[in-house]
Amino acid sequence: MIITIRDQVSSEERSQLAALLYQITGNARPTHSTIIEAREVIVLDDGQLDTEACTAIRNHSAVERIVQVRTPYQLVSAAFKAEKSIIQVGDASRGLPVSIGGDTQPVVIAGPCAVESREQLLETAQAVKAAGAQILRGGAFKPRTSPYQFQGLGLEGLQLLAEARELTGLPVITEVMEPEMVEPVAEYADILQIGSRNMQNFPLLFAAGRDSRRRPVMLKRGFAATIDEWLLAAEYIVAAGNPNVILCERGIRSFDTHTRNLLDLACIPLLRTLTHLPVIVDPSHGTGRRELVPTMSRAGIAAGADGLILEVHRDPNSALCDGRQSITPEQLQAVVHETHIINQLLGRKMLVA
Ligand code: PEP
Ligand code: MN
Repeated sequence: MIITIRDQVSSEERSQLAALLYQITGNARPTHSTIIEAREVIVLDDGQLDTEACTAIRNHSAVERIVQVRTPYQLVSAAFKAEKSIIQVGDASRGLPVSIGGDTQPVVIAGPCAVESREQLLETAQAVKAAGAQILRGGAFKPRTSPYQFQGLGLEGLQLLAEARELTGLPVITEVMEPEMVEPVAEYADILQIGSRNMQNFPLLFAAGRDSRRRPVMLKRGFAATIDEWLLAAEYIVAAGNPNVILCERGIRSFDTHTRNLLDLACIPLLRTLTHLPVIVDPSHGTGRRELVPTMSRAGIAAGADGLILEVHRDPNSALCDGRQSITPEQLQAVVHETHIINQLLGRKMLVA
């Protein structure tokens, strides 16, 4: 249950409500309060509440309204908010702001898997912009399977991303791997990426939720995560105070080895019924093979995704990370064009950079 508190409620009414909730739920089912769209809300795990208890809460003078949500995730649920959330990315003082979500504007996020050098990033940033992308991606801190693989340029990578934004106007997204790095990364990035391996790193989710700038967070699906686990991970960020969450389907582990992951496109229309959060698709990690990326990009948009995130390299065969799944800027241009056509067929508009 989500309880929205009335504006200008007195402290006496507030304590009466707290006493009522304690009486109903006891210690066993803690309440959680947060701010959503400038309104205080209290979230209650209400699996067992009877009608009488619900009526008592609904009729309390401190309460504006209650919404009963029958899923474990509450604030991110479609039951709580029927209209799709639109997440504002970027800030006019340092780039071209972009919106993600809603029915009309799928975005294309593109760039290298990893920031490798100044020249590589600036050249790629200009190329992806020219190809029609609206947001630049690039990893500065890379979660690598082996400790001997390229780990990213770290702080220097963040500074290069900021320089690329300055040059092109494109907002930038980059991964953050540990809670202590949320604030430093958010100083440079316009979107914080939480990677598949960290989807259930709860201290990291909490830190991203408490980020003082409330930077949008792109939460990638864990490669062995169920949809409910993924939505509950998003709930952590929102419950901690940051409603700006974008989900990213990037494929899950399967028994087959022809593709790196199994891109679960059925989750896109399914998530539409479960959550108001925007969902984007990553066909690069979702397939691991560049020749499959254009087709799966088209499929993702046709399935109703709010955008794509694509790995692009000027010379994929020499990339320090994930070259096998990286497309060239020329191929990106074709993907953007096809995305545009599918959007028109679906009656949606395309955001032009
Ligand atoms: C990435 O997008 O850079 C990445 C590491 O992806 P994932 O977390 O989905 O593996
Ligand atoms: Mn990658």
